[in-house]
Amino acid sequence: MMSTPEAEYRQVHRDVVTCHGKANVNACEWCGGTATDWAYNWQDPKQREADGRVWSESTANYIALCRTDHKLFDAAFRRVGLAGLDAEVDRLKPLAWARITDERREVEAEQRERQFIINEAVIAAHEERIFARQAARQAKLREKAAARTKREAERAMTRESTLHGFFPGILVHAEGARLKADGAFRAYVDWCEREAFPARFRMGRSTFYRVLADNGVERRKTKCGITLFGVALA
Ligand SMILES: [Zn+2]
Repeated sequence: MMSTPEAEYRQVHRDVVTCHGKANVNACEWCGGTATDWAYNWQDPKQREADGRVWSESTANYIALCRTDHKLFDAAFRRVGLAGLDAEVDRLKPLAWARITDERREVEAEQRERQFIINEAVIAAHEERIFARQAARQAKLREKAAARTKREAERAMTRESTLHGFFPGILVHAEGARLKADGAFRAYVDWCEREAFPARFRMGRSTFYRVLADNGVERRKTKCGITLFGVALA
């Protein structure tokens, strides 16, 4: 995406705020009142100019000024240029300082201190919310992982504990034998009852067939229905 001069100008002002904080928690460098602007200091040899704006890409080239002194500063630059700027600023600064009283500077300094504390609290609250969201997300992931582990353990338990003892045991290998699958499943259910297996460890019909298949028991549909091959009830 092409960035426009307008967008670049706005971005560098955001960068200044990121680096140095908001202008209004600083004193104006000229009058000592509360600043409102981060003003470009006209000192960047590589300054950018476009659409009637002039700016520096370096956040070091900005000073905190109140709106009045920002306007006076820019007007001074236009009047005398960079060569005469320092002398002009030296002349204007005492005038700016004299414009407001010490008492007002003190009151505004206290207000800035309060504003600074508020800004810090807002930032802290924001960071806390981000942290809480991240923590919640991580907790959810851990919960999911734990649930998955539990399900896997139970599944393994189902296969191993409930089949172990039933096959081989109640159901046994028998060369050439055939057994109706339904009969084998009913025998399994009866056996679970006798062994008093908790319901969550018992296999459903389809799982039972699949686990038998995993254990090498062939199952096919015949004229007599679904039939297991090579096994019999003991
Ligand atoms: Zn000022």
